[in-house]
Amino acid sequence: MDQIFDARPFRPPACAMVGVLYVLSLAASVALATSRGDSVLALPGSESWISAKAKRDADAIIKEAFSSSTVYDRLAYITDTFGPRLSGSSALESALDWAKDQAQKDGLKVYEEEVKIPSWVRGREYASLLSPRTKNIRIIGLGGSISTPDGKPLVAKALVVNSFDELEKINHQAEGRIVVFNPDFVDYDTTVPYRAFAASTAEKYGAVAVLVRSISPYGLQTVHAGVMNDAGIPAAAITLEDAKMFERMQNRNQDIVIELYMEAHTLPDRLSRNVIIEMEGCEKPQELVVFGGHMDSWDNADGAMDDGGGAFISWEVIRLLKVLGLKPKRTLRAILFVNEENGSKGAISYANKHQHEANLTSLAIESDAGTFTPYGISVTSSKKARAILTHIGQRLLSGIGSGNVSGTEYGEDVSYLADQGVPAGSLQVLDPRYGDYANNPCRAFGDGVSGETDPMKSAYFWYHHTEADTIDKLDPEQLQHCAATMAIWTYTVANLDSLLPR
Ligand SMILES: [Zn+2]
Repeated sequence: MDQIFDARPFRPPACAMVGVLYVLSLAASVALATSRGDSVLALPGSESWISAKAKRDADAIIKEAFSSSTVYDRLAYITDTFGPRLSGSSALESALDWAKDQAQKDGLKVYEEEVKIPSWVRGREYASLLSPRTKNIRIIGLGGSISTPDGKPLVAKALVVNSFDELEKINHQAEGRIVVFNPDFVDYDTTVPYRAFAASTAEKYGAVAVLVRSISPYGLQTVHAGVMNDAGIPAAAITLEDAKMFERMQNRNQDIVIELYMEAHTLPDRLSRNVIIEMEGCEKPQELVVFGGHMDSWDNADGAMDDGGGAFISWEVIRLLKVLGLKPKRTLRAILFVNEENGSKGAISYANKHQHEANLTSLAIESDAGTFTPYGISVTSSKKARAILTHIGQRLLSGIGSGNVSGTEYGEDVSYLADQGVPAGSLQVLDPRYGDYANNPCRAFGDGVSGETDPMKSAYFWYHHTEADTIDKLDPEQLQHCAATMAIWTYTVANLDSLLPR
């Protein structure tokens, strides 16, 4: 076990009510380290600027977090009770009302900030294979798609391509066709442009609609929703199985004829809100650490994993500190964002409204990659800030395995703060296939399968934006672990003597 040293013996408590005592200023630490000619911060195993109080607080947070199933119980309640929470839906508004009400009952400071959000509506939709055999084709219209023309089904021959390059080569064949895009899943960022740009690309060559293989490494006849860029032809996702079947049919020179019907349309923008749960800083309340997840989901998904878990562990951070009577020096702000999935209007609105606070925001962390077993955070920041975060992780979180700082990713909802220069990052979690958890879909297969190390090929994308994103995929203990991890990073950063260096 690491011993935590106080490098400076005493400093009067700044927050009189609770006596939060963070002992050594970073400036002193820098001076100490520089005089020895080594790196800015003391190395693990030698002097640390993290105080015994900080270590005690972190241990108390861990103990409290793991003693309560609050996050899981609340998330199960909203996913079971309100279901999918698409932007513009009354279910989203009901879930936001409920969260706000409960946070007030927790005795927390909670308020709303209005956000205008788009309201895209799916309506009825179906697709049928008419030739070479009749078959129902499972589809899910892509967010932002238009309907089939004149409120009627369209019938057309399909043209299957595996890539944009392939379409370029045979684009003269696309006229009047339903173009089926069948790209292999590489990783999400590499493959998702097919969902975004399939329709606008095929439209240029006279296609009448597009069907895009679901953006996922694995399918059980699941269709994955998601947003697309504007286009003048309708677009829907199909299953991995059907996309591959269409490819086989085309390779045999079989004519593929499909009927497609979609009622998708966009209503006028609606008023919604970000719900903000806050604990005011007791020394520097104008300075901030912000973190959060999003409350909206696709209309086919209960949105437990994407991203009710991220939103609710953020709320839990504030609740845990309140229960423990811990007061941060700086303000901790948990944001339950809206409209991440199809417009990011919640994130954009927050960043615009709080632009004057950009220089006062020490760190912005998002959890939107699943709330499975956490292993740490990724962050885009200065080297000095990264060293500080690394030291916090090593000293306070290595005992529960979630103290790693790796990678530079940050999520969509904090990206607009990153654009303003705020150090920004993401909670990083292991593939749900790791560990002997009830939600490990590969437990029975042993290490040969769970040895997968690429998080982008995570089982997260098996469920992402599908009907299978339900609460049973989450594990109460993993949610507790995520909440403890988020709480310790954010609370400790809020208690540093300075903002994280830019
Ligand atoms: Zn998400």
